[in-house]
Amino acid sequence: MTMIPTVKLLIDGEFVESTTSEWRDVIDPATQTVLARVPMCSAEEVGRAVAAARAAFPAWRNTAISERARVFLRLQALIREHMEDLASTLTREQGKTLADARGDVFRGLEVVEHAAAVGTLQMGEFAENVAGGVDTYAIRQPLGVCAGITPFNFPAMIPLWMFPMACVLGNTFVLKPSEQDPLTPMKLAELAQRAGLPPGVLNVVHGGPEAVNAICDHPDIKAISFVGSVHVGTHVWQRGTQNGKRVQAMLGAKNHAVFLPDAQREQSLNALVGAAFGAAGQRCMALTVAVLVGQAREWVPEIVARAKTLRVNAGHEAEADIGPLITPHAKQRVQQLIERGVAEGARLELDGRNYQVPGYERGNFVGPTIFSGVKPEMNIYREEIFGPVLCLVEVDTLDQAIAFINANPYGNGTAIFTQSGAAARKFQNEVDVGQVGINVPIPVPVPFFSFTGSRGSRLGDLGPYGKEVVRFYTHTKTVTARWFDDAVTSGQVNTTISLR
Ligand code: NAD
Repeated sequence: MTMIPTVKLLIDGEFVESTTSEWRDVIDPATQTVLARVPMCSAEEVGRAVAAARAAFPAWRNTAISERARVFLRLQALIREHMEDLASTLTREQGKTLADARGDVFRGLEVVEHAAAVGTLQMGEFAENVAGGVDTYAIRQPLGVCAGITPFNFPAMIPLWMFPMACVLGNTFVLKPSEQDPLTPMKLAELAQRAGLPPGVLNVVHGGPEAVNAICDHPDIKAISFVGSVHVGTHVWQRGTQNGKRVQAMLGAKNHAVFLPDAQREQSLNALVGAAFGAAGQRCMALTVAVLVGQAREWVPEIVARAKTLRVNAGHEAEADIGPLITPHAKQRVQQLIERGVAEGARLELDGRNYQVPGYERGNFVGPTIFSGVKPEMNIYREEIFGPVLCLVEVDTLDQAIAFINANPYGNGTAIFTQSGAAARKFQNEVDVGQVGINVPIPVPVPFFSFTGSRGSRLGDLGPYGKEVVRFYTHTKTVTARWFDDAVTSGQVNTTISLR
């Protein structure tokens, strides 16, 4: 009998076995093979991780900025070196295709590169002579212990949104990755140790509600970064802020793409199909609603034809465009929502239910699914489906399209496809959504900008990575200084000597 490996905790620089009695299986979603067992940590184990992070903080905050940055310079090199191993681990535990898995790692790697060059963003401000002989300056200091709680759908990118930026700024960190795919974050934690992060600067715990609540309640944690669903994120935000912590919570989505009839048809429809069905729709930036304006409503058959060409298969197969959903429960939920859409009167143009992949009969596959004639009151429109389901909506004008999007409770990402600069500018100006793409389907910003979100897609003012997260992970101290020195005041000082 083969032993199933256990996922370790990282506490104070050591990879240690959990002492909890509650464990879950980490399962390959294409085959149902158990890859590992992950502990559901107790509050006591979270407390040990926080204690290690707290003990490491004084020395780490006083480590030179450039020395801290060099750790992340080494980490980015190690991630590049181990890209294929990281991507194949990610595909096995999460299900997405190898190409998507490499993209997941790469988008996180970009944040590590940015962390390695963060020095100038941490600089404060200085004003000379705010009063006679008085100067005022503001310095940005790290907060202390910060924590991150991450979702299953980007097990490399989202942990890398968090700990590199928090730690390079002088904080120490406790990461709680998704219990559904913790193997990739653990490989990243191992690489971070090899890159030279001192013991206790990064710690990793695992688990569900008990571990998350312990993070929300622990008095030594100063800030929490959360990415995940609205339901859990709202709980974390409320509980964490009630306990006096800074909390940033990036939440769910229902992203719309607007197609004007003048759009470059070939490119726009290819972009739509990739963004709607890629990663089996399990992206917070997936385009799940296409708003067809005017004559663009005639494009429905072409959208369906393109979707039919996508190949559904296990993520590590060369012929795969779309992998499985994360769990059998996720598959069941998506299929039930499709049934609901049919019952509510939407037209099922393409049905991906009961999709069979030869050789992977037990995989959680759902094929590309398209509904037309979708109305705002239908469940398939109101809920975040988080599967390969595209809803088509028809309107007459750009104004109607913008009003339609702004009436949706979410505001994560959106895109417009057009050749009109004026239409694109009007859209970018009036749409109430965090990330806007102009002929770009998934406009996730590069790390020198910040990821953001509007309305129901975000709680808290500041987004992950970029300049916003520098403000999130630091607090400002303002110093007003006046110096009295008898020798200088009387003009008797010998500057050559005093400079020595
Ligand atoms: P989730 O909310 O179920 O899980 C997120 C984290 O919360 C995980 O670490 C999980 O262990 C923990 N958790 C789950 N249930 C909990 C509970 N009852 N109490 C306390 N903690 C709990 O999210 P998910 O299913 O892993 O990820 C998908 C969701 O994340 C989607 O809604 C997606 O839109 C969203 N997401 C948003 C962004 C963004 O930037 N806005 C990015 C990626 C994913």
